[in-house]
Amino acid sequence: PHERAAVLHRVAELIAARREDLARLQTRDNGKPLAETRALVDSAAGTARYFASVCETFEGEMPTPRSRDFTTFSTYEPVGVVAAITPWNSPIASEMQKIAPALAGGNAVLVKPADATPMAALALAKLFEEAGLPAGLLSVLPGRGSVVGEAMVRHPLVRKISFTGGTSTGRRLAAIAADKLIPVSLELGGKSPTIVLDDADLERAVQGVVYGIFSSAGQACIAGSRLLVHRSLYDAFLKRLDEVVDRLRLGHPEHDGVHMGPLVSMAHRDSVAAYVASAVEEGGRIRRGGRAPSDPALAAGSYFLPTVIEGLSPDARACREEIFGPVLVAMPFEDETELLAQANDSVYGLAAGIWTRDYRRAWHLASRLEAGTIWVNTYKKFAISAPFGGFKESGLGREKGRQGVLAYMQQKSIYLGMEQQAMEWSR
Ligand code: NAD
Repeated sequence: PHERAAVLHRVAELIAARREDLARLQTRDNGKPLAETRALVDSAAGTARYFASVCETFEGEMPTPRSRDFTTFSTYEPVGVVAAITPWNSPIASEMQKIAPALAGGNAVLVKPADATPMAALALAKLFEEAGLPAGLLSVLPGRGSVVGEAMVRHPLVRKISFTGGTSTGRRLAAIAADKLIPVSLELGGKSPTIVLDDADLERAVQGVVYGIFSSAGQACIAGSRLLVHRSLYDAFLKRLDEVVDRLRLGHPEHDGVHMGPLVSMAHRDSVAAYVASAVEEGGRIRRGGRAPSDPALAAGSYFLPTVIEGLSPDARACREEIFGPVLVAMPFEDETELLAQANDSVYGLAAGIWTRDYRRAWHLASRLEAGTIWVNTYKKFAISAPFGGFKESGLGREKGRQGVLAYMQQKSIYLGMEQQAMEWSR
């Protein structure tokens, strides 16, 4: 464990030393503004350090039974080879979130980065090599999910699948894992409600809601994409939201002061635009955005304006399906019963936000929301020590936290006989 921890610490130092290069590499791969990709790089370094400490301080257990005849030890062993498959929106951070606990647990890891964003994983593997990780313990296999990813998870030596990505892919990988009878962890999609109660601090709530959906141009599993505002505050809230959205700057992701870069690809922009068209067909009114920007300087990129839609029924596609783009659907609610029914009316359960001045109210509401992460008066904040994962179709298992390493280990109980005489039974 000391050697593993030392490698993880050295990697963290190398990541910190190459922060700017790694951030630019990712920005070129997925179009996120530099401020965001720098934060992802910092997160990756922090994750490596955290799991180095977990590795150093990890202990087995001695579940001492009340018996004079035997005693037991419970040890944790590596599962073997781990297949780690990641999406394109936060490459280096999602990859480290799997690599660090898997290596800390003593496994070998195969990483399949997303088709569109292989560069960060490849760079990261080189840093592990430089940090002295023995050859073969970390391999990166870029390529198409349906070809490389599928071949990886089906390989008989792979004994654990750790996946972050869309729910339909996750379901397919879970079926393969079921067939092989191997464990699988799934971090999947979301359609997270962001809730504004009647006593919320309006300005803080507006700023938080805008950040929650439009940072990363909405390409975040945890994006707060369903806005539920108490009827008494609805008009004032939406008016202020319009003003803040109008001030967001779209532009080249390497330029300073840019809030939103392009979406990851033209194909993805078409998919976002198709959702907006479906919302209009289903009776939605576009308050803001709804199209690509008209600025000729942005015409060659896959940009899409921050979009706010209202007037939709909760059954509309744009209210139910994950768009994974800068699209916020806004709906008023009358009381907490209606609010809870609306907020929980989703196949997803990844995250939720609550804006209120009353923490007691927030606590009770949080305990009834079906989501793995709840933010109160904040949004998209993360601690590596806090487990993360989804309820319902947003996932299976938890990543991060001290327990995160257990997802890559299997427990073994060893009994030591202490009887003074030979066993009675056959005598
Ligand atoms: P995706 O499911 O299309 O792809 C994710 C990864 O799976 C890619 O590396 C892809 O190549 C691979 N893949 C695709 N088909 C595969 C197959 N048949 N076998 C093996 N691997 C396969 O997702 P995406 O479009 O890259 O990412 C967006 C999705 O990821 C969104 O749904 C988002 O919510 C989700 N996401 C979840 C979290 C989380 O922590 N819960 C974090 C980020 C993104």
